Amino acid sequence: MVARYKYRFYPTDQQKNSLAKLFGCARYVWNEALAHCQAVGKYLGYNQLSSRLTKLKESVQWLKEVSSVALQQSLRHLEEAYQKFFNKEGGAPRYKKRKTNQSATLMSNAFSLQGEGVYLAKIGVVKPIWSRPLPSKPSSVTVIKDSAERYFLSFVVEVEPEKIEAKSVSIGVDLGIKTFAACSDGTKYHSPDYAPLYDRIAQLQKQLARRVKGSNRWERTRLRIAKLHCRIDDMRTDFLHKLSTKLTSENQVICLEDLNVRGMMKNRKLSKAISRQGWRRFRELCKAKSEKFQRELRILDRWEATSQHCSKCNWHWGKLDLSTRIVVCDGCGAVHCRDENSAKYIEQVGMGHRPTQKRTWRLSKTTEPKGSVASVCEASRIPCL
Ligand SMILES: [Zn+2]
Repeated sequence: MVARYKYRFYPTDQQKNSLAKLFGCARYVWNEALAHCQAVGKYLGYNQLSSRLTKLKESVQWLKEVSSVALQQSLRHLEEAYQKFFNKEGGAPRYKKRKTNQSATLMSNAFSLQGEGVYLAKIGVVKPIWSRPLPSKPSSVTVIKDSAERYFLSFVVEVEPEKIEAKSVSIGVDLGIKTFAACSDGTKYHSPDYAPLYDRIAQLQKQLARRVKGSNRWERTRLRIAKLHCRIDDMRTDFLHKLSTKLTSENQVICLEDLNVRGMMKNRKLSKAISRQGWRRFRELCKAKSEKFQRELRILDRWEATSQHCSKCNWHWGKLDLSTRIVVCDGCGAVHCRDENSAKYIEQVGMGHRPTQKRTWRLSKTTEPKGSVASVCEASRIPCL
C-alpha cells in the first residue's frame, strides 16, 4: 500500500525564488490547459495537451527555466481532476490561485536523495527535517508551500502492513459534537478546543476588512489569519491521527456510523461546529489505518437509527432531542448515557448481533480507489500514516 510521508524544510532565499518560479509555471500550465479545454468545450486528453505544451514552450520562454517533469505532472493532475469529474466523484476542475496552497510534483527522474539532503531538479539541494526515516524509496515528491508560507516535501512511498495483535475484538464509535467520539467500551474522547483560535480569527478578519486590499498591512494581517488557520488544522490533524491510530491498533473490527454530513450541515446552528470536527477526515484515516494494521472497518448504513434504540433490549424510543444526554429505557428500565448507548448499538449492529430489517453494514468507500493515490495534487488528500 502507498502512503505519504511529509517533512518540513526551510529553503534559502535563492531556493525560495526558484520554488516560486516552479509553482508559478506549474500553475500557469494547469490554468492555461484548463482555459483551452473550456474554450474548446471538451477535455482534450493528456497526450494532446502534452504536445500543446511543447509548442507553448517555444513562445513562452520562461517555462523552460523549471523542471519539465513538474509541468507534465500538472497536466496529469488536470487529467485526474477531469476523470473524477466525469466519474461524478468531484466538481469540475477549477483555476489555481496564487495566494492559496502552492504545489508541484516531481517524479523520480527529477529528484534524488543525497545523504541528508534532497536534490530537486533546477532548484538544488534542500535539507528537510527528517522527523522519521523514509520506509522505502519514494516514487514521487510533491513540494508544497502552504498559505502560512511553510514549505514541505511530501513523498509517496510504498509501506508494508504492520502486524500488531489487537487487544479486543470489536469497538463501536459514536461521533458527536460535544464529545468527539464515544466508544462502546465507555471511553470518551474530546477534541481540542479550537474556539479561542477561531475567535482570534474573527477579530483579525474584521481588522483585515478595514485594511486597504493589497497593502503591506493587509498582507500582514492576511498572513496572521492564514497562520492561525494552519495551527487549527495542525491541532485537528494531530488529534485525529492519534485517535485513529489508537482505535485501529487496539481493535480488530471498528464500527462507525455513516453520518450524513452534508445533510447535517444544512442545519445552520450546527454547521459550524460540524465542519470543525473533521468527521470525514477521521473516517478516511481510520480506513487507511485499518489497512495498515490489517483491521476491518465497518460503516453502518446511513438510515440505521442508532440513537433511537436501547442497546440492552432493542426497545425503540424514537427520536431524541439533541439536548437529551441521559435516557431511561421504557423497555428494560436501564439508564443509558446517550452517546455510549449509541456506540454500543453501533457495535452490535456492525458485528451482526442485532437483528435489523435493513442492510446492516457495508465496507467503507470513502478513500480513493487504488492506483490514483500517487497522483493527487493536494497533499491533504492522502492520509499521512
Ligand atoms: Zn432497554
